[in-house]
Amino acid sequence: MADERRFRAPVDLHTHSSVSDGTETPAELVRAAAVAGIGTVALTDHDSTAGWQDAAAEGARVGVTVIPGMELSTRVEFASVHMLGYLFDPANEALVAETRRIRDGRMRRAEDMVRRIAQDYDITWDDVLAQATEGATVGRPHIADALVARGLAEDRSAAFAGILHWRSGYFQPHYAPEPLTGVRLIREAGGVPVLAHPATGSRGSVIPENRLRRLVDAGLFGLELDHRENRPEGVAQLRAYAARYGLAITGSSDYHGAGKPNRLGENTTDPAVVDRMIDEATGAAPFYA
Ligand code: AMP
Ligand code: FE
Ligand code: FE
Ligand code: ZN
Repeated sequence: MADERRFRAPVDLHTHSSVSDGTETPAELVRAAAVAGIGTVALTDHDSTAGWQDAAAEGARVGVTVIPGMELSTRVEFASVHMLGYLFDPANEALVAETRRIRDGRMRRAEDMVRRIAQDYDITWDDVLAQATEGATVGRPHIADALVARGLAEDRSAAFAGILHWRSGYFQPHYAPEPLTGVRLIREAGGVPVLAHPATGSRGSVIPENRLRRLVDAGLFGLELDHRENRPEGVAQLRAYAARYGLAITGSSDYHGAGKPNRLGENTTDPAVVDRMIDEATGAAPFYA
């Protein structure tokens, strides 16, 4: 089978397009990957698979293999936990229904947040809608872009440090399932789940071992340890857990175009890990270039 697997390194397993909160269309993103010398890129928009076909078509043109994926929103109480899913069936009914529910919840939550912000600042819901592509998964980044357009913030990062911060008084969480549900949904759709940037907690705090073990038992494949927002203390702890539970380690940029400083290929994943991922997945195949 080895000759059927023609994906090239380097492999970047986490990127966002305008289908969620990236600033480039899926095709533009894949072109940017080609220019950056990336051989294989996973498109992992928040709670949406709407960019897969455009990304795949561009990948075929520019010689970049596209691994179809998604960054599923999950949450534990008020803490948001991101679950990457790869190579799952995009038509799986349970996953389609759950992602629709999350996107709807995100829309209502964004409207609520804007209603609160508008009591203190000159901004409207239409300003926010103008920043998002039709059907996109709406998030705080789109509110940030509207604040920037109104001159109320310098850039996305400044908006996140101020008005959009969870302690600002304007923040509100949105509906999301539990991480365990996320792992099960992705596996049941034939996909491979990886915990996204799992060491971003303050003071290096990470998921407790007993919770991690439940995710492993449900089919968690790996941990995204090579990611710029992870903290070294947390990564060290999670490396030990990964060894203990046989979890794969992935690395990626979490590229958002101009929306974040993250650059394509700044972290990458060992091709041997990608081979294992492709072997385990039954829901979809990579779009080989
Ligand atoms: P939300 O899911 O709507 O709460 O928004 C969180 C998203 O905002 C994350 O997925 C990131 O893509 C983005 N984000 C978080 N912090 C920043 C930042 N400092 N600058 C730009 N984007 C950010
Ligand atoms: Fe994002
Ligand atoms: Fe994330
Ligand atoms: Zn992401």
